[in-house]
Amino acid sequence: MDTQAIPVPFVKSKQILVGPVILLGAPGAGKGTQAKRISDHYGIPQISTGDILRDNISRGTQLGKEAKELMENGHFAPDQLVCQMVADRLAQPDCARGYILDGFPRTVVQSEWLDDYLAENHCFRTEHGCKPLVVIQLVVEYNKLLRRLTGRRTCPTCGRIFNNNTSQRSLVEGVCDVDGSALVTRKDDRDDVIMERLKNYENQTLPLVKYYAQRHRLTDIDGAAELEFISAEAFKAIEHVDSV
Ligand SMILES: [Zn+2]
Repeated sequence: MDTQAIPVPFVKSKQILVGPVILLGAPGAGKGTQAKRISDHYGIPQISTGDILRDNISRGTQLGKEAKELMENGHFAPDQLVCQMVADRLAQPDCARGYILDGFPRTVVQSEWLDDYLAENHCFRTEHGCKPLVVIQLVVEYNKLLRRLTGRRTCPTCGRIFNNNTSQRSLVEGVCDVDGSALVTRKDDRDDVIMERLKNYENQTLPLVKYYAQRHRLTDIDGAAELEFISAEAFKAIEHVDSV
């Protein structure tokens, strides 16, 4: 049978208006994996402030130059600068049906800016109003996060990530399944660094969680559940949000 002749099914998810989506989750909560799944499912871009910063710096834009100078002197890029770069990026045509924000907003000031930006620019307007922001938090219990993070091993040759403490473990402990290289623990995944990352995350994110919970924008999903279940819950949250 000629498999080429099978018609591609009509993929509705790639045509619907998604709107802005924010994913919150501690390191190890599976944010990266779910962001990729949502991005693929709807055909919308994943907007990372890290990527935007690097892009502005490499293109030598005015914003990039300012950010570079600040960061070289050991400062974070200030809210105003980050917000301007995000605004430039969100105005690109690939963001017209929606996008997933990764690493933004990071502060309540940035959250407020985003609310104003979406309102002022009448983003994602439909006949029923504008599609509001959907904020999804992947919730994973602290000890589970710790187990996931401390089990992570990376292949220095092909970059694949394995995990001694989950179903993603390598066939032979400490050895890459693909190329047989000895797996290593990245600096980010060492115990002391992990504790610090989790603490920082909590301090930084708690105010955002409160901000969105008060505005009834927050959907919590059990990040320890099966991947498919988490994605299905995320799609539900994204598609069933009422316009405002
Ligand atoms: Zn490898």
